Amino acid sequence: MGSTEQEHSSKYQFKAEIKQLLDILVHSLYTSREIFLRELISNASDALDKLRFEITKGSEILDKDIPLEIKITFDEKKKLLTIADTGIGMTKDDLIDNIGTIAKSGSADFLKMIADNKSDAANIIGRFGVGFYSVFMAAERVDITTQSFKPGEKPMKWSSEGLGDFEIVEIEDTIKRGTTIEVHLKEDAKEFAEKYRIEGVIKKYSNFISFPIFLENDKVNNIKALWREPKSSITSEEYNEFYKFLTYDSEEPMDILHASVDAPIQYYSLLFIPKKENEFFRMSREEYGLDLYVRRVLIQHKNKDILPEYLGFVKGVVDSEDLPLNISRETLQENSVFGKISKNITAQVYSYLQKKAKEKPEEYAAFWKEYNRVFKLGYSDFLNADKYMELLRFNSSANEDENGLTSLEDYTGRLQNEQKEIYYALGTSRDSIISSPQLEIFKNKGLEVLFLSDPLDEFVLSSIRKYKDYDFKSIDTADLKSIEKLADKIEKEKPVELSKDDSLQFDSLLSKMKDILKDKVEEVRASERLVDSPACLISPDSSISSTMQRLMRLSNKEIGMQKKIFEINKDHALIRNLLKVFKADSNDKYINLVTDQLFESALLLEGSLEDPHKLVSRLNELLKDSSEWYVEVKKI
Ligand code: ADP
Ligand code: MG
Repeated sequence: MGSTEQEHSSKYQFKAEIKQLLDILVHSLYTSREIFLRELISNASDALDKLRFEITKGSEILDKDIPLEIKITFDEKKKLLTIADTGIGMTKDDLIDNIGTIAKSGSADFLKMIADNKSDAANIIGRFGVGFYSVFMAAERVDITTQSFKPGEKPMKWSSEGLGDFEIVEIEDTIKRGTTIEVHLKEDAKEFAEKYRIEGVIKKYSNFISFPIFLENDKVNNIKALWREPKSSITSEEYNEFYKFLTYDSEEPMDILHASVDAPIQYYSLLFIPKKENEFFRMSREEYGLDLYVRRVLIQHKNKDILPEYLGFVKGVVDSEDLPLNISRETLQENSVFGKISKNITAQVYSYLQKKAKEKPEEYAAFWKEYNRVFKLGYSDFLNADKYMELLRFNSSANEDENGLTSLEDYTGRLQNEQKEIYYALGTSRDSIISSPQLEIFKNKGLEVLFLSDPLDEFVLSSIRKYKDYDFKSIDTADLKSIEKLADKIEKEKPVELSKDDSLQFDSLLSKMKDILKDKVEEVRASERLVDSPACLISPDSSISSTMQRLMRLSNKEIGMQKKIFEINKDHALIRNLLKVFKADSNDKYINLVTDQLFESALLLEGSLEDPHKLVSRLNELLKDSSEWYVEVKKI
């Protein structure tokens, strides 16, 4: 650089996390290490975007008239690659804060990723806010010279070999605004000082950078704002290339939504739905948002207010004609034009989903499989509640297997006469719900039940409360009186009614069972809902939902499950036999044995039996007895 450096230089240590990161990057050979060039160009482009933003705000700016561009030069002999931009530049404090001493929130996540050795993690380093350091995959030393756009700031030089420390010195010569990064390439990376190699990388990753990139003296990128081009002039390769540029995805998108809207407000939007949910989306909220432009000037990267978070799987760009260029990010939300854009774009995403759900249910099922967890979080978006509900899908008893999907519209289209509620059952899986005794009467009456095996589903239903005029009702708390009246769908022999006297005896048996279980249950009562099972546990009508209870238990182990009602099927053969035993001797110990066993079996089915030891030893005892009777009866 030929600059005379000040005598007193200063050395700084890299932050521990950065040191760890560098250690891995320097010592591993990644197949995708060419991406360091993409990262440096993307930083140059960010710096130019930031400068353009300062210009539109009317800030005072050094070297105001030099063009906004990126220049790449190389020297094969010296194994030197240089990337220069005329962007925002950095002050000494900026250098210290931005490069080396303060770890960004993403760095720990990225370290975890490369430690887990996820598929060439280096390729996606830029997503974690630590893209700059990728340069040390190829460099043995890096020198940054930089001049901040702020008048009065001194030019600086930062140097490092990517080991433990870096150095910052002040430069005496004057330099133009912007940042120049000199990459002194390692012997085995000298290919990055060759023209065809550099050009290839730029074409592959940086074609859509919106500032001109000059390689030596030739402009090598295509700076058109794709979203402003007419759809008919864009090839699907261009769309896909732009998508990959924008998202770092290696696959093509599931869908592309390109719109140019004129009234009532004018904007362009180019949105993409990735095929797969980005695995980092869940890790960091930073990942979601659309890039907001005003008349081609990037105002905000990943704006989080255009689309609600639950539609955050949508990626892309929005460019407004009507917003003021000097709008600050803080006042965006209060701007009525912005509000309209946001509303329109949300509506656009909804109508895309509605169309897919209606016309291509198989594609919608694929979408649902990938994004249902995120989408369901929209339960609190009351403005879009109707559309949101139409897009929800559940597995239900009307589906053949766990892959089947039912919409609320499907469900209500299959309602039985007089049915006013949408029934649902909670459980950990379809299988466990299907085998639960509580479901028996619904099966018997042919009533459809939604199977909620995702804990989020219960939150969704309890916050949307109603679909059209239908309330959601858990099968636990459904009104059995009205269900009883419906005709049976499954032919079964009618059980013999209990005689008057037996009915009284049965009530005493229930009291006896309550005495045995004591305060383990709220009540023991005859069941209206059971068909094939002898007994089950039910939540009292006004009880807090079992999901809430699970949450409460998670936060405080001391809170036990709420006491339940134990229901007994008086028509079950086992209970009829038990009644005989009871009539012969109301204190027979066999009654205790059976009662405890039925109770613990019900707990086990619910997933809330804490200690199975007693259940198993009791069962063994019963089996021993029954084996003796078996031998006797069979005369073996
Ligand atoms: P990210 O770009 O995600 O912020 P990087 O590790 O790529 O993370 O860069 C770290 C920071 O260094 C940037 O946020 C920016 O503040 C600063 N920086 C890097 N390159 C430049 C540049 N060419 N001009 C100005 N600032 C830069
Ligand atoms: Mg970067």
